[in-house]
Amino acid sequence: MEPYFPADVFADPQQPPPKVLVSPQRYIQGPGVIKRLASYLSLLNVKSAGLLVSERGLATQGAVVLDRLKTAGIEGLSARFNGECSRPEIEMHVEHFRPLQIGCLIAAGGGKVIDAGRAIAHRLSVPVVVVPTLASNDAPCSALSVIYTQEGVADSVEFYPVNPALVVVDTDVIAQADERFLVAGIGDAMATWYEARVCQNNPLARTSLGVRPTITACAIGEACAHTLYEFGDKAAASVSENINDDAVERVVEANTLMSGVGFESGGLALAHALALSFTEITSVHDQYLHGEMVAMGTMAQLAMEKSADARKAAIFFAKVGLPIHLGQLSLSPKNHKELDVISAAAEARPIAHNMPMAVTQSSIKRALLDAHELGLEIAQTLGDSAYRRLQP
Ligand SMILES: [Zn+2]
Repeated sequence: MEPYFPADVFADPQQPPPKVLVSPQRYIQGPGVIKRLASYLSLLNVKSAGLLVSERGLATQGAVVLDRLKTAGIEGLSARFNGECSRPEIEMHVEHFRPLQIGCLIAAGGGKVIDAGRAIAHRLSVPVVVVPTLASNDAPCSALSVIYTQEGVADSVEFYPVNPALVVVDTDVIAQADERFLVAGIGDAMATWYEARVCQNNPLARTSLGVRPTITACAIGEACAHTLYEFGDKAAASVSENINDDAVERVVEANTLMSGVGFESGGLALAHALALSFTEITSVHDQYLHGEMVAMGTMAQLAMEKSADARKAAIFFAKVGLPIHLGQLSLSPKNHKELDVISAAAEARPIAHNMPMAVTQSSIKRALLDAHELGLEIAQTLGDSAYRRLQP
């Protein structure tokens, strides 16, 4: 399979880069929408569909999907996802599905099932249908997958020429999941605007497509942040009691659609460069969710920008239970070895250099320590009860 690099298609090295916006073909969200999946699939005109799902997911949402497909006369062929979005796992499912000639692949579950589903569908040249069962990250709407080694270390990113044909988000399912997942999704989504804003304002910045962001993508990021500031803690409180209401609907859309389109087409910056680099430290990688690391990354980005929003974001994160100082990621400001590893890894990521100022390893470390100081002060004032409720 030839690797696909969007910049080769969209950007001409002799010309200023164009602005490009990508998104899923259709995004459907609401209570109980999973039960109408077969109806949405009629838009794709398929006679059979593969279903990639975890063992646990097969017993719950998977069973609902297979039942509805059967009723609609669509043959459903399921395969069990074994937990890691690695090349061997992807190839195994490609071999399994290829002779079955499925018309599309449905990936139902968390971020890794979705990423694996996209990779498999691309190799089979069929559309992918994404059914997220968590709102913990910005992955569902995008046209890229993070590929891991079999040991679970992030290895590379694969890009695809098309975004999902359908993204179907059943908010009743999301509301049944643990509150910590929704809150992590809030952390991931809150970075969207701050990162898109940096990319919009810095003419040298490039999005994940290797091009310039549209005003539209930046505006989506802004609407995402406003939605979270207004409804984030209410939605978290509702999900803690497994209640689906208007706040949950709004925040799920922010975490999934606005954050997804916003990051892919609006661009990333230091918040994600750091979030992806915290995983270099095993204790952080093993204990914390992506969105929780993004929250701390956002704090550091805002510190580097000397943004007036730094305090506002930190207070909000504290209220919903996201990490706001190094101790809340099991790190210490005194452990310079670990901080050096993290800041060096972040500096090595091109997205770190979407920031408007020169970014060095030491300026990243400085920003992390400044963010830590602010977070510590806020945690001492507001307490850390929300954080402690979510962390095992
Ligand atoms: Zn993210």
